[in-house]
Amino acid sequence: GSSSPSVDLTLIHRADCIMSNSAEFSRQVAQGELSEIGVQVITDTAVVEITEDSVRLCSAGADPSAESFEIPADLVLWAAGSRPSSLLPSLQIPLDPNGQVVTDRFMRVAAAEDGVGKLFALGDAAKCGTLTGSETPSTAQAAMQQADYVAWNVRASLQNDKLLPFRYQDLGEMLSLGEDSAAVSSLGLLKVKGSAGSNLRRAIYAARMPTTAQAAKVGLSWATDAAFGVLRKALQPK
Ligand SMILES: Cc1cc2nc3c(=O)[nH]c(=O)nc-3n(C[C@H](O)[C@H](O)[C@H](O)COP(=O)(O)OP(=O)(O)OC[C@H]3O[C@@H](n4cnc5c(N)ncnc54)[C@H](O)[C@@H]3O)c2cc1C
Repeated sequence: GSSSPSVDLTLIHRADCIMSNSAEFSRQVAQGELSEIGVQVITDTAVVEITEDSVRLCSAGADPSAESFEIPADLVLWAAGSRPSSLLPSLQIPLDPNGQVVTDRFMRVAAAEDGVGKLFALGDAAKCGTLTGSETPSTAQAAMQQADYVAWNVRASLQNDKLLPFRYQDLGEMLSLGEDSAAVSSLGLLKVKGSAGSNLRRAIYAARMPTTAQAAKVGLSWATDAAFGVLRKALQPK
């Protein structure tokens, strides 16, 4: 068959490393895979302008009018930034500079005195524990843990019971790195990458489905994909 045309890929990132919120293991594996497939990674750099055939860049934090440079580009994929709902600023509750609702460690919104205990915030929209305690990542893993605490605390606040301070338990991270590669790390004990990581990630996802029927459906779908993949490779002309 014909070989694929060569493509120069450049990843531009404003922070000083990619995936700064990820586990060290995931970051290292991802950096390794990017370098293996020839992706050039430029960090500490901000995009200033995108034209029809180029991207203009400058050092992160620098004045773009004083110093910037351009790289040619046929195609630009923009994947930057997420921000909480635009509804939040209209609610007159305290927000942090990123627009997330500031809560105390019981997930209560730090509203006016008589409002405390009546309003809770959780998930991506909330910045939990910025008044006291440590910060929580904006992930589904954290949001699901917060849901249990908020459910408890809503009941407790209605019954004048003791509220539980939220404690985030980092169970680990699973990062897909293409069709047959992934980085899986958990509790500092488990570290698996490559094809084994990909299979483990899929097995864990299937096992974590809410119902047995969903777990079986997802598991079967992946098993079928894998079987067809093997068959396709075997039938490919040499
Ligand atoms: C591409 C991608 C991949 C991700 N992968 C992972 C991962 O692998 N693991 C992980 O842990 N996390 C992952 N995350 C993060 C995860 O999706 C979020 O942290 C999680 O969904 C947060 O849950 P949430 O309930 O706070 O918000 P959401 O899941 O965003 O739910 C908010 C809901 O509110 C609704 N809504 C918004 N405004 C209004 C309104 N005015 N009225 C009524 N409803 C409204 C929205 O439609 C939405 O359904 C990923 C996120 C993205 C974008």
